[in-house]
Amino acid sequence: MTQINYLTHLPIVETFHSVQGEGTWMGVNAFFIRLAGCDVGCPWCDTKISWNTKRHPQIAIMDLVTEAVKTHPAIVIITGGEPLMHDLTELTRQLKEQGLRVHLETSGSHPFSGDFDWVTFSPKQFKAPHDSIYQQVSELKVVVKDSSDLAWAEQNAARVSANVVKYLQAEWETKSSKDLVMQYVLDHADWRVSVQTHKLLGVR
Ligand code: SF4
Repeated sequence: MTQINYLTHLPIVETFHSVQGEGTWMGVNAFFIRLAGCDVGCPWCDTKISWNTKRHPQIAIMDLVTEAVKTHPAIVIITGGEPLMHDLTELTRQLKEQGLRVHLETSGSHPFSGDFDWVTFSPKQFKAPHDSIYQQVSELKVVVKDSSDLAWAEQNAARVSANVVKYLQAEWETKSSKDLVMQYVLDHADWRVSVQTHKLLGVR
């Protein structure tokens, strides 16, 4: 039986070419690499299929990079699951070697690894972020279901650089969360509303 080398392979849920649906880079041509594995356990998670790494194939990093290069993306977005459950050093090294711009979407719940041009930090109350994330953040995005999430958002905002862009995103299934986010942004001009345009457009 062939042994898989976990330094050269990563468990992958899917890869796809689309546009970034949210945040500062919304609408930009992007190649997505969705890694398997997450131990955060958000009850409203829309990618629960990603949680168990054993359900997904180990793909060679070299093949992921080749696939990304073929799509000529403006950015490559590493997402999950929780990508920082894995050492991302080799994946980002090889992507950058090809001249690609590399972004990360993470809850920050595991030690930081890899070399990124942009880091979207979405901290979750269900598993506290690791201290190593705070100095890496480019934008902060907090999902809001109820008012405790607004306090959580401010708690995390206090730990990132002052120039980090701050977003609040209403939890998709909870109707009252939209009003909560709207009112908070109207009352606090340093925050922005995050809209998931890919869900509105019905694309990935
Ligand atoms: S951190 Fe992301 S992938 Fe993990 S449970 Fe929460 S929403 Fe789902």
